[in-house]
Amino acid sequence: KTFDQCGFDSSLLAAITKAGYQKPTAVQAQALPAALSGRDVLGIAKTGSGKTAAFLLPMLVHIADQARVEKGEGPVGVIMAPTRELAEQIHKEARTFAKPYNFRVSAAFGGLSKYEQVKGLKLGCEIAVCTPGRIIDLIKMKACTLMRVTYLVFDEADRMFDMGFEPQVRSILGQVRPDRQTLLFSATMPRKVERLVTDALTTPVRITV
Ligand code: AMP
Repeated sequence: KTFDQCGFDSSLLAAITKAGYQKPTAVQAQALPAALSGRDVLGIAKTGSGKTAAFLLPMLVHIADQARVEKGEGPVGVIMAPTRELAEQIHKEARTFAKPYNFRVSAAFGGLSKYEQVKGLKLGCEIAVCTPGRIIDLIKMKACTLMRVTYLVFDEADRMFDMGFEPQVRSILGQVRPDRQTLLFSATMPRKVERLVTDALTTPVRITV
């Protein structure tokens, strides 16, 4: 299986090659076709597996498919990560692969000035990379709305719950459209995460690596 077989357009393929990715990792080989077909995905995978590109690349295709993009404010693709460090890594990778599309990637996580983040969100963005606490803050400040989100990712869901972010996760789920596509990645599957999968995903393709 190769990236060519995923149906990516040439500019995205060029960005993938430029990033040094020669062929899909195991999680990518399974998650990419499922996510590209519009299915929800549950990925049981650790950091280092290549899970970031597994959810990012289909997100770009989803957003580029303008027919699905509603007019209005706020990001179309949202990625939730438990920590600032992880969010930073995802943000970096998202910016790399968003470049061929000129999609704007906003950050909503600790360690960066809230003012700058508000500005980024207000200027408009297709993609937002967030930690649960910060995005809730920004929503409360009316800097961001999730009403346009049609592609939602929870990364490291088990860590998100370990850190006590379940109320924030539930609040976010209450603010997104029910007809969105949802992907959830977790290294482990404790009961709380299983429950989130049941509540947030619709007949997901289950991937274990
Ligand atoms: P992740 O699990 O998403 O944090 O990715 C782990 C590392 O693997 C990151 O440094 C990625 O840039 C890299 N990576 C992801 N996909 C591939 C691939 N298909 N080929 C080579 N490296 C990759």
